[in-house]
Amino acid sequence: MSPTSEHRPTLAELERGLPFAERHIGPRPDDLARMLEVLGVDSLDALAARALPDTIRDDAPVGASLPAPVGEAEMLAELRELAGRNTVTVPMIGYGYHGTRTPSVIRRNVLENPAWYTAYTPYQPEISQGRLEALLTFQTMVSDLTGLPVAGASLLDEATAAAEAMTLLRRANRSTSPRFVVDADTVAQTVDVLRTRAEPLGIELVVADLGDGVLPEGEFFGMLLSYPGASGRVADPSALVEAAHGRGALVAVAADLLALTLLNPPGEFGADAAVGSTQRFGVPLGFGGPHAGYLSVGQRHARQLPGRLVGVSRDADGHYALRLALQTREQHIRREKATSNICTAQVLLAVMAACYGVHHGPDGLRDIATRTHRMAAVLAAGLRSGGVEIVHDAFFDSVLARVPGRADAVVAAAHDAGIALRRASDDEVGVATSEITTVAHLHAVWAAFGVTGVDVAALDGDTADALPAGLRRASEYLTHPTFHEFRSETALMRWLRRLADADLALDRTMIPLGSCTMKLNAAAEMEAVTWPQFADLHPLAPESDTAGTREMIDQLETWLADLTGYAAVSLQPNAGSQGELAGLLAIAAYHRSRGATDRDVCLIPASAHGTNAASAIMAGLRVVVVGTAPGGDVDLDDLHAKIAEHGDRLAALMITYPSTHGVYEAGVRDVCAAVHDAGGQVYVDGANLNALVGVARPGAFGGDVSHLNLHKTFCIPHGGGGPGVGPVAVAEHLAPFLPGRTPRSDGGVGPVSAARHGSPGVLPISWAYLRMMGLDGMRRATLTAVAAANYVATRLREHFPVLYAGADGTVAHECILDLRTLTKETGVTVDDVAKRLIDHGIHAPTMSFPVAGTLMVEPTESEDLAEIERFVAAMVSIRGEIDRVAAGEWPAEDNPLRNAPHTAACLADDKWDHPYPRELAAYPTGVTPGVHDRKVWPPVRRIDGAHGDRKLVCSCPPPDAFA
Ligand SMILES: *Cc1c(COP(=O)(O)O)cnc(C)c1O
Repeated sequence: MSPTSEHRPTLAELERGLPFAERHIGPRPDDLARMLEVLGVDSLDALAARALPDTIRDDAPVGASLPAPVGEAEMLAELRELAGRNTVTVPMIGYGYHGTRTPSVIRRNVLENPAWYTAYTPYQPEISQGRLEALLTFQTMVSDLTGLPVAGASLLDEATAAAEAMTLLRRANRSTSPRFVVDADTVAQTVDVLRTRAEPLGIELVVADLGDGVLPEGEFFGMLLSYPGASGRVADPSALVEAAHGRGALVAVAADLLALTLLNPPGEFGADAAVGSTQRFGVPLGFGGPHAGYLSVGQRHARQLPGRLVGVSRDADGHYALRLALQTREQHIRREKATSNICTAQVLLAVMAACYGVHHGPDGLRDIATRTHRMAAVLAAGLRSGGVEIVHDAFFDSVLARVPGRADAVVAAAHDAGIALRRASDDEVGVATSEITTVAHLHAVWAAFGVTGVDVAALDGDTADALPAGLRRASEYLTHPTFHEFRSETALMRWLRRLADADLALDRTMIPLGSCTMKLNAAAEMEAVTWPQFADLHPLAPESDTAGTREMIDQLETWLADLTGYAAVSLQPNAGSQGELAGLLAIAAYHRSRGATDRDVCLIPASAHGTNAASAIMAGLRVVVVGTAPGGDVDLDDLHAKIAEHGDRLAALMITYPSTHGVYEAGVRDVCAAVHDAGGQVYVDGANLNALVGVARPGAFGGDVSHLNLHKTFCIPHGGGGPGVGPVAVAEHLAPFLPGRTPRSDGGVGPVSAARHGSPGVLPISWAYLRMMGLDGMRRATLTAVAAANYVATRLREHFPVLYAGADGTVAHECILDLRTLTKETGVTVDDVAKRLIDHGIHAPTMSFPVAGTLMVEPTESEDLAEIERFVAAMVSIRGEIDRVAAGEWPAEDNPLRNAPHTAACLADDKWDHPYPRELAAYPTGVTPGVHDRKVWPPVRRIDGAHGDRKLVCSCPPPDAFA
């Protein structure tokens, strides 16, 4: 405010300061005015009036529950107050979640470092070598520890990993039996998710007590063993594995990676797959998530693996380079062939776990495991010395104590001493040790059991290990130099910096990815993620300890319900895909509750995101594709024909709004009404909510259920491919069918993720965003995003045709640039354009989705005009280069587009025989030498995908492989 301004700000205004929305939204007011001028409107409201169809506009009071926004300091004070209502205890509950120490070097340099947390999924491998290497390290670690050669680059949690293993074994086995045997000594959350996932697929779950080593009668296609068991028991699984194989079944083992540093790994006793969590490798508990689940398999199942797999390939100069292997395997989320819907996984957490392995190395991990085990062994011995019965003689870290009738009293006494134990039953208490357990904790636990005066030193000397001798691991692991070279903190810090520098994340460039909404992840939003009161809560902590987090979850659910026009929200799904599954299961359960058990057809537009059809298959529905009209909208004639054809079999329509073509379809209300008239339910995929928040609500224009992606619209960073949160929002009639809300026996839907609230550890991010933006800020963000997309479309239209547009020629929050004609005429492909953008230091838009041969651009509201102009200039420059190819000035096979990206090494080579100068290769829009040179040098040249797939290598190759 300048001193000459007429309005003297009031004290209240001065105290409030600059609203957060002014920081979140990129374009300054003057810049926005210029953008709007180019669009021919004079305000965001005028733009809204033009771009949004009247049919979806919502003049009802939206978001009334959302409080007026506050600034960063006030928001943090409120969050601190909520955090203060949580009570952090020493977690000795175990049961799949354990105390761990996140090394500060990993917390600061990875978890709290935007170079890592703002990165996108590594679909552009040339600018993703850093996180690809970290993920390859994760794969190598999991593969080594489980003794199985092929490990994926993370799954959502242990329970969903077990479900993925179940369906993988079914695909891999020729057995026609629908039965899957589950060890009764498996954590309840895994059994629960298995049930949810098994039922719609017609898999019959047989939970069997395998403690006496006897398999259930009859045929079964697969089996899941727990190692160690949920009770803590460690038994030799080899006889059971052999017996199951003898019966024609395949076997997966849920295993604790830390225990596997001491115990024979699943691969060595014949398991076909291993699953589990990597949480205790330095990832905070976070009240249940996010943590990286893992799945590893034998070589013969490599091509069945769901999710992403990093593999080794080579670049155009023949150098070592990494990429996502078997990408066509993301066919696993394609239509009727779908075998899994996993898309966003847990990359950031997998990177943390890998770094933990690198930080500690094999000997360090073995020391942590030994310490954990010795603490448990001495703990058990102390209890025994005080007359407490210990149920199992062999265990790794979890001791099950029998205290007839006293379980509640013991747990309460421990809680008074600041320690959380597991109440296994009226008569049994579970105590789990971990990396953070100390002798002082043992004394406190003994005291809670009424055992005092234990002489620890004497007991320690007298107590043998409690691991079965025959199960002692003899094989080596983590022998690769990566697990040995970065043991000093200096070396580790530099390794992490080197990897991060190889990548282009949001901290260096806009990432204009259509359908992915790569917007600002503000530092203030991230702040609370690592506060101990949020980060150190065990998911099974008593309710009295978690009041603050639960209040935050309630508020967030209420706000999201309000913003979407639905009655209820569940934050449990830990990715968009899981929200889809939960929503479709709700629809199926609703139909069942009304006796309409035949309704099993799910209509899905041809342009839908791959997860849609995959989720429908997993929900037990039949996918029927609805065509696209020439303008990009749903083909209404085809829709009506399909509705008529399937009649009483119609369960649902899944439709993305705005459409995956980036357009507000004017006819959406009619589409919804047609489905409702036929007795179907409407699922509105809300991943594109960034074009709707504050201006229209899917629940108000016809949706019965939607999922939202908090890792897109609501600022949870993408983390290089996760974490995500995919809340499912439903209308009143579907509320009883939200995951876990109604008992299964009453027709309810079971949980879709291991922890009740999915990934609460990252929910403070979205809470903070909404709290600081308020309804008005959200609305401005939405309309600024629409303005930015239309600005890009307008500026680039004369250079690249914009494929689809809605009313008045406007797009929604993204636009599709159509390169197909240019490709036909010149041979220059979307790949060439994407890779040439790397030479400009800009991340490519979405390639070939939803239309092959196109680029989909979503600038978001967070990019300022200068960055948008940098992108536009790069695209215009690229178009100029395409024209020179077209004019025959450069051959189709040798030009700066085809040869992009250019590394420093290839330009420094004495030999340069290309028909364009080096300077143009490196600096396509001119050199800006000196300190302001923003040049980003890619570490590798264009990567050969097919090569890596033919020779699949997906763990760190030995150093001599480079010789
Ligand atoms: C991102 C996206 C999804 C899937 O979300 P994930 O979190 O990756 O599982 C589904 N639909 C659309 C339209 C999306 O853009």
